[in-house]
Amino acid sequence: MTKWVYRFGDGAAEGHAEMKDLLGGKGAGLAEMSNLGLPVPPGFTITTEVCTYYYARGKSYPAELRKQVGEALAEIEHSCGARFGDPENPLLVSVRSGARVSMPGMMDTVLNLGLNDRVVEGLARQSGDERFAYDSYRRFIQMYGQVVLGIENHFEELLENHKLDKGVSLDTDLSADDWRTLVAGFKDLVAQELGRPFPEEPQEQLWGAIGAVFGSWMNPRAVTYRRLHDIPADWGTAVNVQAMVFGNMGADCATGVAFTRNPSTGADEFYGEYLVNAQGEDVVAGIRTPQHLTIAGKEANKSALPAMEEVMPRVFDELCQVRRVLEDHYRDMQDIEFTVQRGKLWMLQTRSGKRTAQAALKIAVSLVEEDVITREEAIRRIEPASLDQLLHPTLDPKAKTVVLVRGLPASPGAASGEIVFTAEEAESRASRGEAVILVRIETSPEDIHGMHAAKGILTTRGGMTSHAAVVARGMGRPCVAGAGDLRVDYAARTIAARNTVLSAGETITINGSTGEVMVGAVPTIQPGLSRDFATLMEWADAIREMKVRANAETAVDARMARRFGAEGIGLSRTEHMFFQADRIDAMRRVIMAEDETGRRAGLAELLPMQRKDFAEIFRIMKGFPVTIRLLDPPLHEFLPKTEAEFGEMARLTGKDVSATRQRALALHEVNPMLGHRGCRLGITYPEIYEMQAAAIFEAAVLVTKETGEAVEPEIMVPLIATKKEFDILKAIIDRVGSEVMERAGVTLPYLVGTMIELPRAALRAGEIAETAEFFSFGTNDLTQTVFGLSRDDAARFAGAYQRLGIFEHDPFVTLDIAGVGELVRIAAERGRTTRPGLKLGICGEHGGDPASIGFCQAVGLDYVSCSPYRVPIARLAAAQAVLAGEGGDASV
Ligand code: ADP
Ligand code: MG
Ligand code: MG
Repeated sequence: MTKWVYRFGDGAAEGHAEMKDLLGGKGAGLAEMSNLGLPVPPGFTITTEVCTYYYARGKSYPAELRKQVGEALAEIEHSCGARFGDPENPLLVSVRSGARVSMPGMMDTVLNLGLNDRVVEGLARQSGDERFAYDSYRRFIQMYGQVVLGIENHFEELLENHKLDKGVSLDTDLSADDWRTLVAGFKDLVAQELGRPFPEEPQEQLWGAIGAVFGSWMNPRAVTYRRLHDIPADWGTAVNVQAMVFGNMGADCATGVAFTRNPSTGADEFYGEYLVNAQGEDVVAGIRTPQHLTIAGKEANKSALPAMEEVMPRVFDELCQVRRVLEDHYRDMQDIEFTVQRGKLWMLQTRSGKRTAQAALKIAVSLVEEDVITREEAIRRIEPASLDQLLHPTLDPKAKTVVLVRGLPASPGAASGEIVFTAEEAESRASRGEAVILVRIETSPEDIHGMHAAKGILTTRGGMTSHAAVVARGMGRPCVAGAGDLRVDYAARTIAARNTVLSAGETITINGSTGEVMVGAVPTIQPGLSRDFATLMEWADAIREMKVRANAETAVDARMARRFGAEGIGLSRTEHMFFQADRIDAMRRVIMAEDETGRRAGLAELLPMQRKDFAEIFRIMKGFPVTIRLLDPPLHEFLPKTEAEFGEMARLTGKDVSATRQRALALHEVNPMLGHRGCRLGITYPEIYEMQAAAIFEAAVLVTKETGEAVEPEIMVPLIATKKEFDILKAIIDRVGSEVMERAGVTLPYLVGTMIELPRAALRAGEIAETAEFFSFGTNDLTQTVFGLSRDDAARFAGAYQRLGIFEHDPFVTLDIAGVGELVRIAAERGRTTRPGLKLGICGEHGGDPASIGFCQAVGLDYVSCSPYRVPIARLAAAQAVLAGEGGDASV
């Protein structure tokens, strides 16, 4: 018989932490905490397999489920000494969803289930607190009404109206009679909306809630979230049913959430919020301002409200012990939920805490230093792509700013953008390439797509653990939360603070590291990199086998690349140097020349400029290899496009306008990714490559003499299809090289190699390697030629292709292993068979993509080359690729 139900509580459990797939994250955490002997209210988990069964069998349950649930419930009753549905001595439960990974969009939890008109009286009698009993009841009707019965939330309106009538502002000011009245009102509302009365029968309530959890697995919010996060639909969710503990029974009761370390900075400090006499999600819902757990936290946030450390010192101590037990056990920062009932602490959840990239680094490095985890584990734990958050510009502290308002620093980083008020607006404007800041009173799971699209998020309600804060940190979006002094008027589409009013479309800047909201766009600067960053990179460098180079052609980029740890340049695109204002005219004279003599005259003008460019890069990269690619794009790219420009160009080149236009027409390429470009230009106009080769060798000689350190140029011929093409051009380059070196009286090491970016070249790599001294895989063009698809084409419909499952991912982002990767593998093998030790690298954008880097390691490339900003990501990913290989779980 299949076991569908797993029990936990009372210092033991049938499941454990490793059973997330079956029990979901929440269920596994509750089981593990029970096993650790922590105080967990008893309960049971209905497995994710029931969810899978439910959808596979027309939304029905396995036959044995009812019996297993009944038995498990009886055991909770036994352990609590109370009975479900018994008015004399009632047991209440919560019904909580829990997938393998925490997933907004799933059904919200229903608390206090098992109450009805008779049971509530029993609860009042038994607890001696009528107010508590009716507060619990109205909460139950409200939650059950919304999440199980799908009734729009008019409950809050009834509550607000009642408070207005009574002239009170806080829920805690309402009396038992008030709640009794409200309960009646809530039940009327349900009956009206539903056309039948609120279900009084506890068993019906229970199965209704269980069905709602499974039902919510397929609701649109959950489906969207899974799509954004690559979560398979067949994972399913588990359901947890657990005895209630009450944080709303009076002043010696509380509910709270905490992180075992600071989730923003990673500092080893206990960080959390709580509310006295409250229940469930009151802390994160923004109904009352939450209080800090620690005195330090209270002071740091300039809160006037007392800390738990002061109010409930004994429980606080116990919580601190739990914090240690959980961190020692999980060896990672935990995000926990707890409730205090009449001075007794109960643990309700633990999971690995979401954190910023900065915090992730600090925590990983600290845990190694505390001897809790190994360096390898630390390296494995950091998501390479998340480093992006640290490398990006931060606000210039010297910039003059107008601070509109201050909120909580909920997710670090800075962002400027135009104000939008809805997730839809954020998404549609972002899709047009506009930068927007999503401004909400508070966010809910429906807003996730808009939060994703926005550059930053600003809310006026909620604390550091509010929905906005948690989700923004997970996404790496800057967020300022709880900016209470800001008034948001959705109808007027304005925000206002002090005497300033801003409308939708106006620009603001938020600083998620300080909580400041500023008027207008604030200039940014490069961030300083932390000691933890340097430490982790050092560990990664010690493990990785591939070198990491950068694609860079300007001095600024080359310097940035060095700063980020690049070990040379894998691709320097020479044509970019021709586009600069002072050079394009000379280039145009070359293009317009009647004959070789004319072209040589123009090229002679360009030579010193190219020499200077190369010399500068060689200086910055001294001691490291620099791969320079000879001219690649079709010539028409250097020609003007408008009539006015044609006139100007005619004047500059001494030709008439019609001749200029005609030449442009002749050179026009229908499909510029193919055609007369790359080495074909070198074959038809050898003097261009001659000039470039001369500039490279002269610069190398210059810098070698200057610095005394040999510069090692790697001259790269683009777009080779045949060996013959390469041989003709290599002969020219070698000849120019020996001429320059002879004149200078020095010998320099250099290599002449080729980019492998056409399928034919990949297949003929064996013979090309007879003369080519290195290969660099140009996987951008290789992807274009393999798919017959340009990158712009792909951008237009790659999304649709991914949704239909035709593309697993965008092949221009993550290397298509089956096609492009196969050609890379073939070329690498054939090349190295001919020339053992042939130097192999990748210079397409895939060189900075962590998944593709794993493939590069598996194929045995010597280096990857990527944009300077991605160099640290590549260093980390290259180390992870080695570890994955050692663990035998290489994904290729
Ligand atoms: P989420 O997945 O949104 O975190 P939870 O299932 O953790 O939802 O529950 C929401 C809130 O209800 C949390 O604050 C949690 O601590 C509280 N809660 C859940 N079960 C119980 C219970 N048995 N007794 C008291 N509070 C509970
Ligand atoms: Mg929730
Ligand atoms: Mg929770």
